[in-house]
Amino acid sequence: MLARNGWLGNNEGSWHKPSICISIRHHNHNQDITMKPTLCSTLIAGLFVVAAHAGAAAPSGIDTAAMDPAVRAQDDFFRYSQGKWLKDVDIPSDRASWGAFNVAQENVEGQIRTLIDSAAQDQHVKAGSDQKMGDFYASYIDEARRNALGLAPLKAEIARIEALRDKRGLATLVAQLSRIGVGTPVEMNVHQDNKASTRYIVDLAQSGLGMPNRDYYLQADDAKLAATRAKYQVHVEKMLALAGHQDAAAIAERIVALETDIARVQWSAVENRDPVKAYNKLSFAQLKQLAPAFAWDDYLKQLGAAGKIDSLIVSQPSYLQGLDKLIGATPLATWKAYLQFRLLSTYAPYLSQPFVDESFAFRGTVLSGASVNRPVQKRAIAEINRDLGEVVGKVYVSNYFPAERKRQVETMVQNFLLAFKEGIETLDWMTPATKAQAQVKLAKIKVKVGYPDKWRDYASLTIARGDLVGNVMRSRAFAQRFEVAKLGKPVDRSEWGMTPQTVNAYYNPEMNEVVFPAARLQSPLYDADAEPAINYGAVGISIGHEISHAFDDQGAQFDGDGNLRNWWTKEDSEQFAARGKVLVAQYGGYSPLPGYPLNGALTLGENIADNAGAIMASRAYKISLKGQPAPVIDGYTAEQRLFMGLAQARRGKARDAALIAQVKADPHSPSEFRVNGSLRNHPGFYEAFGVKPGDKMYLAPEQRVIFW
Ligand SMILES: [Zn+2]
Repeated sequence: MLARNGWLGNNEGSWHKPSICISIRHHNHNQDITMKPTLCSTLIAGLFVVAAHAGAAAPSGIDTAAMDPAVRAQDDFFRYSQGKWLKDVDIPSDRASWGAFNVAQENVEGQIRTLIDSAAQDQHVKAGSDQKMGDFYASYIDEARRNALGLAPLKAEIARIEALRDKRGLATLVAQLSRIGVGTPVEMNVHQDNKASTRYIVDLAQSGLGMPNRDYYLQADDAKLAATRAKYQVHVEKMLALAGHQDAAAIAERIVALETDIARVQWSAVENRDPVKAYNKLSFAQLKQLAPAFAWDDYLKQLGAAGKIDSLIVSQPSYLQGLDKLIGATPLATWKAYLQFRLLSTYAPYLSQPFVDESFAFRGTVLSGASVNRPVQKRAIAEINRDLGEVVGKVYVSNYFPAERKRQVETMVQNFLLAFKEGIETLDWMTPATKAQAQVKLAKIKVKVGYPDKWRDYASLTIARGDLVGNVMRSRAFAQRFEVAKLGKPVDRSEWGMTPQTVNAYYNPEMNEVVFPAARLQSPLYDADAEPAINYGAVGISIGHEISHAFDDQGAQFDGDGNLRNWWTKEDSEQFAARGKVLVAQYGGYSPLPGYPLNGALTLGENIADNAGAIMASRAYKISLKGQPAPVIDGYTAEQRLFMGLAQARRGKARDAALIAQVKADPHSPSEFRVNGSLRNHPGFYEAFGVKPGDKMYLAPEQRVIFW
């Protein structure tokens, strides 16, 4: 089980499935997806870091060497600002995508490697963070031991599955697997009640697929997805064969058939974005009526939630009904095989080399397009970052995040909040009544920068050298216990949904807070000495983006206290929806690959945040000038530099397989459209670069859309 943080899906970057804390609610966290379509990040890494590829950046901070002089800014700003980089830089073979975000993450991982290396060397350290980080790392990179153990570390769990004698026991088994992070058809989250945000509640959501989402199983008219399905079945077969099954092919067929049945009753990614539709509060008795074939008492007891709840949220009621029918209709042997495969699939990366290789062959190569796996040391650090999140975070910030930087960024965020306040006042399409409500919400936004004030206590988590699978299982169970322990307690507003070493940021509507982890404010990512205009584009875009999430099509349905409550007049609500329709159509007209247009409805929230965030960056920059004129540097006006910063920070490219996964399942648009798509609606961009009718970036004024 991963961290449950409600609507944390509203992060600025990409969909980091395996990361502990970016849980996109209703987004099936436990579906074992390991690809990282990171190209969509808004991150700030780009210019200061990537400039190094062709020498130093110009005084303006612009990476002029990355630009393509053959492309006009007015025709394709994304390629104008970084066309040469896009042509010259290859995606590393162990990556699905590459860009500013990845460079930043690599830097942070290097810093953490230094910390962990020193912790891992001393076998005699027997206490505290060093012991946990050091022994976890040692257990991960000890490939000789992993190979010697083979499947043995999963023996007890496999025996438990084999011992299942009737369908009544399915619920207990599902809960036990779910507790150690295995993706099962139902997942339980604990988060704030969206209509009573001062209390925690349990949420049940669909999950349990091995491919990114239902489209991969069901879409019949897509040759690439059909090929992926065929490869998936072969992958399931190979994994079962590795685990010693004689009739692996026949079993694999039944498993994929069951997953396809599960996919058929799941909600689509677009349906799952609707917080009102997904808010279905049921009493425990009603839940049992809804899906009687599943032993809910046993399930909740096993997860430690029994007796702590009188009602819960069912995100997708029709899914639970469908699943209920599938429990009746599918033979017990198929359920057992399916659950064993889910276990294998989740834990293969921590087993012997054949399992690691087969897991990568499908998840890394087929689903994401990478040709070689990342080195074991890097995989180890990623795992420790996830499982020992705040253990690492605490050591990381004490070494790499000075207090002064926290204050600097907090000041910058205040300028953005001021910019948003001004923006609301000047909106021409909104009535004063709704404006007043929006201001109330804005004034209640809480800002968190760098790291938590209060650290999570990991004392009860045992990490043992030489027991990698055990370490992972105990860590996942620890995280799950942490979530369930919240039930019945007051909401902890000091909690963080991302670790400080995460190169990303988020808005959480339940807490009404924007959160900027230290790792994304790290030099050279954040440069306090850099010329301000470029910082307001490169760094500010993500600040504006996150604040805008409070007012995107999802966020705007929550009030300042984190409750799902409609504070809009009917008229304004209709105006907002009409603007949404225009944006859905605009982005639906963009295709990163022929035949794979963006899903304008799936990406609407992120696109609104990109659009509003860019406008807010311009406005916040003007506020920061305090009436002083801005200089021209390297021949660029301040506004031009801001847009260059914005675009170069979002540089990125991805392999086709990763792009397809992104288009199907990720609420973020690919980088190119995050830049060009939002600037085409930005009046300041037209002024800054003199965009005119006939230019390819040009949209007629009546086709442009401004939300905030
Ligand atoms: Zn976002």
